[in-house]
Amino acid sequence: MPRPVTRRSFLKISAAGAATTASCAYAPRGGRKPGPVAVSSRNGLNSMELVGEKMAAGLPPVDAAVLGVEPVENDPNDTSVGYGGLPNEDGVVTLDSCVMDGPSGLAGAVAHLENVKNPAQVALKVMRRTDHVLLVGAGALEFARAHGFREENLLTERARKRWLRWKEQHSGKDDWIDPTDNGDYGKEWIERPTGTIHIGARNAAGDLGGCTTTSGLAFKIPGRVGDSPLIGCGNYCDNDHGVAGATGRGEAAIIANGAARTVRYMAEGMSPTDACLATLRDVARMTRTARLLRASGQPDFQLKFYAINKAGDVGAGSMYPSKYARLVANGAELADTAALFEERN
Ligand code: ASP
Repeated sequence: MPRPVTRRSFLKISAAGAATTASCAYAPRGGRKPGPVAVSSRNGLNSMELVGEKMAAGLPPVDAAVLGVEPVENDPNDTSVGYGGLPNEDGVVTLDSCVMDGPSGLAGAVAHLENVKNPAQVALKVMRRTDHVLLVGAGALEFARAHGFREENLLTERARKRWLRWKEQHSGKDDWIDPTDNGDYGKEWIERPTGTIHIGARNAAGDLGGCTTTSGLAFKIPGRVGDSPLIGCGNYCDNDHGVAGATGRGEAAIIANGAARTVRYMAEGMSPTDACLATLRDVARMTRTARLLRASGQPDFQLKFYAINKAGDVGAGSMYPSKYARLVANGAELADTAALFEERN
């Protein structure tokens, strides 16, 4: 059973949240309108200034976020996103992404998209050029083709070699569960490479937008879709309250509706960091399967949430210590997330 959040660990959590808030030099109060701000998983650090510049030039936050994730989607060395992403169990790269626009309240998404390296751009088209929210698989590819997206092989040699190595060695280290193995208890769950980029953005007028894009869990069962293209799970935006996104174990973010839950906590008045921690606390409480728990009862996986509220405060929380990127008054920087648990024990 998961370890209940004790008063002691709760105090630790609160202290972590307070420390992060205090270290953030940019915490506007009393309705003061800050300039553009943004938040991202750490792999978005180099895009933070670009996102701010695009918003300052008048681009809506959602478009700025999509432009911000593009260099990471194009980067063959980031094996968790776009071109160069690690493939599924069959060696096929499939990409997931979603976008959400605060002012219009609209969203767009693609899942299990092959051969197109910028799924976030396709998700933006789904939002603006269809009356739907989510296109998957062959239909998503057809739609991308219709809009002139170029097809290419996304599997780099580096990713192919890592996949082959995994396939050669993976006996027992996959996602299949043998029911005769007593399901929950017989399976040794092994965390595999994750990554993903989420960017949340807020312009000087207080409008919000967000984008999440990924190649998903490395070596996933073909057809598996994570949280990243699911509105409310890997990304969510409510223009009156905030924007939030997730990276890490997608299954946990799906089950908790993590991004929407985080925005809801901000709507109730929590700071972005406290809202992320409250969602993580719920995830820990709802994780009850032995194979996903450490002996201590703590979840045996990493999960991170990133958030911006309507006032322009920025924060992030994670199950275990980590870093995130943000654009605040003093520029783009990496900062510590507030961790729900200090140690993975
Ligand atoms: N959340 C992503 C997924 O489950 C993976 C990740 O963030 O690394 O597909």
